[in-house]
Amino acid sequence: MAAKTRKFKAEMKQLMDIIIHSLYSNQEIFLRELISNAVDAIDKVRFEGLTKPDVLEDNADWKIKLIPNRETKTLTISDNGLGMSMETVGDQLGSIARSGTAEFLAELQDADAANRPELIGQFGVGFYASFMVAENVVVESRMAGDPELGVRWSSTGQGTYKIEQIRKETRGTDVTLHLREEALEYLDEYFLRTVVKKFSDFVEHPVVMDVEKTVSPTNGEEDAPEKVEIVEEVLNSGQAIWRRAKSDIEQEEYHDFYKHLARDSEDPARVIHYVAEGNLEFRALLYLPAKRPPFFASQDPTKQGPHLYIRRVFITDNAEALLPPYLRFVRGLVDASDLPLNVSREMMQDNPLIARIQKALVNKILSTLEEMATEDPTAYDAFFQEWGSLLKMGVYTDFANRERLADLLRFESTKTQPGAFTSLAKYLVSMPVAQTDIFYLVGSSREVMESSAYLELFRARDQEVLLMTDPIDEWVTSHLMAYKEKPFKAVDKGDLSDEAEKAAREETGKTFAGLLDLFRQAVPEVKDVRLSGRLKDSAVVLVVEEGALNPHMQALLKTLGQEDVPDAARILELNAEHASVAAIQALFEKNPDDPRLQSYARLLYDQALLGEGSRVTDVQAFAARINEMIAKDASPGDE
Ligand code: ADP
Ligand code: MG
Repeated sequence: MAAKTRKFKAEMKQLMDIIIHSLYSNQEIFLRELISNAVDAIDKVRFEGLTKPDVLEDNADWKIKLIPNRETKTLTISDNGLGMSMETVGDQLGSIARSGTAEFLAELQDADAANRPELIGQFGVGFYASFMVAENVVVESRMAGDPELGVRWSSTGQGTYKIEQIRKETRGTDVTLHLREEALEYLDEYFLRTVVKKFSDFVEHPVVMDVEKTVSPTNGEEDAPEKVEIVEEVLNSGQAIWRRAKSDIEQEEYHDFYKHLARDSEDPARVIHYVAEGNLEFRALLYLPAKRPPFFASQDPTKQGPHLYIRRVFITDNAEALLPPYLRFVRGLVDASDLPLNVSREMMQDNPLIARIQKALVNKILSTLEEMATEDPTAYDAFFQEWGSLLKMGVYTDFANRERLADLLRFESTKTQPGAFTSLAKYLVSMPVAQTDIFYLVGSSREVMESSAYLELFRARDQEVLLMTDPIDEWVTSHLMAYKEKPFKAVDKGDLSDEAEKAAREETGKTFAGLLDLFRQAVPEVKDVRLSGRLKDSAVVLVVEEGALNPHMQALLKTLGQEDVPDAARILELNAEHASVAAIQALFEKNPDDPRLQSYARLLYDQALLGEGSRVTDVQAFAARINEMIAKDASPGDE
């Protein structure tokens, strides 16, 4: 069959440009990427071999071989993994299968040079890293179960690639890099050794290379000349770190393994090495990442979750069933003893053993977090800053652990510095004995909330109010309802006064009844107008009824695409003690038909709209009223 030339998908060209030019200082990662692809391919065929032994073709001595060749100036990475077929090689190496490529490109362009390799690794465009060091890449591959029917793919990375059919005896893939002049160091044995150690030491399969060894003469042949032999040397240590005794493992080894596994450049926040024995046997090595990786939110949740091994055999990259969705940020692996090797994704979903492992893992993760929160609150707060919004999800998805999760929550409050946290437990400790509720306010930013009228009463009473800016907080409070029997109460909803205050206001209410009626008819937009029990400095405020969504949440839901968000009717509250309100009342008592009363009612309503962060609807009328007042007030002569 003649070779066919095909074009790369459009975004590939752009991507390749960026990879080749912007990653130049981090060339070495190409080797990590190619080795990791070889490992993936080996794991895949080994896994298939569990149920279809034929695909193994008696070739199950797993290894990844590096073959540097000084004459041809090539480096070949060869594996006996699954291989690629003629049909799929174009898709696998000619396009970026994943979605979000445009987003990725933008991110990559903006990122600091130091972060780029991590971005590339996490996005899985690994293979193309080859072009950083190679002017031409030739991939020869033969798929398991396709005897002799191989394929050769080649490209200079310049927009097109060639595919042709070849004969290939052995199953697996050989990636041959025709090295650029500047990259010839990758032919150097010692250099390759160092790079493998650095990036792929923990790889479970042997990474080997033929090296020349000088063999000293054996006893009795002391006079014979030294012999040089070629031996296949294993370059990586390949130890399953999670199988070793905890006491033998250095912190740094744990961290190195994490960086390799999660492709993170930073140390994790916590390491959990857990060995369960007895009637449920498994080992887990889990990590709590210190930083949220780029694109975390847009990643497919089923592509997250720990790796699963069964009796040291790699089963899958992402066993999402091992952890509940709110812990999907936890990285690592689980090596279980009692599961069948052919466990499928579907089986995992409702396997009682998996459920028990999950329960044990959740328990362990939560106790690790609890420990961190007590022993190192600063570290915990930093951790919460990154991952808190996921833990909050647990509050309404993991009923059994709701209380433990509530203890792990952190919030800003009117008594914390901006950016610093308090906990619900601390809130209770520092609240006055007579206080019965946990007060909170949800808004777009701390700044907006701090300048709002809702906090006036609490400042005057010296009571703490939790300031919540995370969209999920509204759900958290409504699901928890209470913490240690103290109900959550939004300070911008309902009536906050106690019985005595209500009774006192009823009296004043009688005096103001006529004016309130006038307001009701002048401001038909609101559901009701009443006297306020929450204002100190402001004249007016808009509130919603208990249980309704505040305007911030309504707007948020709408931007999230939710269509049937009810426009919660609002209530306009007047501060009877405020000078303006008192003046309007006096005017009303003198002449309830004074046309200015209408205008003042509208002005106060507009003021309340601005106060809650909304826009004034009729700006022209608003301006006209203000200007009229300025014109009167500013007239010279009286002074
Ligand atoms: P990723 O590994 O994240 O999928 P890569 O760019 O590294 O992305 O590889 C793209 C695809 O090419 C892989 O998903 C795999 O299907 C195929 N591939 C690459 N290298 C090999 C290999 N050595 N053996 C078999 N398939 C491979
Ligand atoms: Mg890869």
